[in-house]
Amino acid sequence: MTTTVMRFEHVVKQYGGGTLAVDDFDFSVRDGEFVSIVGPSGCGKSTLLKLIMGLEPLSGGSIEYSAAARSISAMTGMVFQQPLLLPWHTVLDNVLVPSALQSRSRRKADRGRALQLIGMLGLTDFVDSHPYQLSGGMQQRVGIARALLHDPRILLMDEPFGALDAMTRDQLTMDLLKIWEQDRKTVLFITHSISESVLLSDRVVVMTPRPGRIADVIDIDLPRPRTLGTINTPEFGDYARRIRRVLDGTEAVSS
Ligand code: ADP
Repeated sequence: MTTTVMRFEHVVKQYGGGTLAVDDFDFSVRDGEFVSIVGPSGCGKSTLLKLIMGLEPLSGGSIEYSAAARSISAMTGMVFQQPLLLPWHTVLDNVLVPSALQSRSRRKADRGRALQLIGMLGLTDFVDSHPYQLSGGMQQRVGIARALLHDPRILLMDEPFGALDAMTRDQLTMDLLKIWEQDRKTVLFITHSISESVLLSDRVVVMTPRPGRIADVIDIDLPRPRTLGTINTPEFGDYARRIRRVLDGTEAVSS
């Protein structure tokens, strides 16, 4: 049985009575699935994340979370396009930033978890390094480890690899796939890369240009574990072309 962890019920967002950024976004995120939201710049992808995080009020509709979660802030980890690390902190201390307000015993447990995540992300040799000593890809790994510190129910990722070069991007995509395949956390991943969305996701939500509406939801039925070699399969190409056609508006929009 699939459980819904997050339900968007006809969500509408209009900024200050002006820009209609998101219109009638109606979608359920299932427990443990990897969902990407793909769309052109300005279609309201970041707005959706701001609505989830409560940083902006809804103009219509609602966003509901599963009963297991008392509050969205307690259940989500967030990864941004820029890793936003504290330059005077080491890698370990940056991963431990969310731990600062926890009890002493919790902080001790967090330290163990942080070291484990740093290992999973291949940064053990850099645990005492500072951000300026790391490449962009390594900094983003620190951002991912920090988001996973408290084992969030949902990981929200806003174009996390958007600022990286192509090879680093591929490597981080593979690392994320590996971590995700280990513990199947629910991930909501915002991107404008079609191939990234196909490679990572169980489902891809394709958005229309502003106002952002759902043009189509595509199930990605590619076997896992997926590798960079998956990109060269005909099935991958079919999915990528299908998403491209929806984005170009040349395919009938499904309900
Ligand atoms: P995306 O992440 O898909 O590029 P955004 O969610 O950032 O899109 O923006 C969607 C639309 O809402 C854009 O037209 C943008 O200019 C507008 N917008 C975003 N934030 C604000 C804001 N705080 N006030 C007014 N308009 C905004």
